[in-house]
Amino acid sequence: MKRISFNLSLRLICCCFPILLFSQCSNAQKKQSGMQTDHKNNPYYSRTDSKKLNVSDAEWKKILPKDVYEIAREKGTEYAFTGKYYKTDAKGTYYCAVCGNPLFRSGAKFASSCGWPSFFESLTPTSVRYQSDHSHGMSRDEVLCGRCDSHLGHIFDDGPPPTGKRFCMNSAVLEFVPDDANAK
Ligand SMILES: [Zn+2]
Repeated sequence: MKRISFNLSLRLICCCFPILLFSQCSNAQKKQSGMQTDHKNNPYYSRTDSKKLNVSDAEWKKILPKDVYEIAREKGTEYAFTGKYYKTDAKGTYYCAVCGNPLFRSGAKFASSCGWPSFFESLTPTSVRYQSDHSHGMSRDEVLCGRCDSHLGHIFDDGPPPTGKRFCMNSAVLEFVPDDANAK
C-alpha cells in the first residue's frame, strides 16, 4: 500500500514539475516584455515630446515599477553584471524608462568591464544633465535625464575616444528599442 502511494506521488511530481517550470518561465517572459512596452499608466511617457517635466516623487512612486523608482528617484544603483543591457550590442536607441526621452545611440555604447551599460556620449548635449554628487564619501558627477530629472548613473573620465568619457548607466532606467522595431 505504501509503495503504491509512493509511486503515485512520484508520478504526480514528475507530471507537475515541468508544468510548474513552464508556467514560471512564461510569467517571467511576460513580465519582461510588459515592462518594456507597457506605459499605459504613465501619462508623462513620450518618445517625441521633449517638454521638460516637473513631476513629484510621490506621483512617480504611484506610476513606476519599484526597481525603476528606486534608481530613478532615490538615486539607487543596480548591482554590477545584473542589469539587462550591460552586454547588449544591437543597433538601436536607449530611451529613459521613466519618461521616454531619447538618451543614447547604440553607436556610442562600448564594451566596458565595469558591469553596467557604458556610453561615450549622449544622443544630444541636452538629452542629459549633470550635477555634483558627494554621497557615499565620493566626489562624482551624477547624470540625470534632461527631460524628467531622473537619476540615470554617473559619468567618469576614463572612457574611450573620441570623448574620453564613460557614462556608467543603470539598465533599469533605460529602455532599449532596436532599429528594426522602429521600422515595423
Ligand atoms: Zn526621463
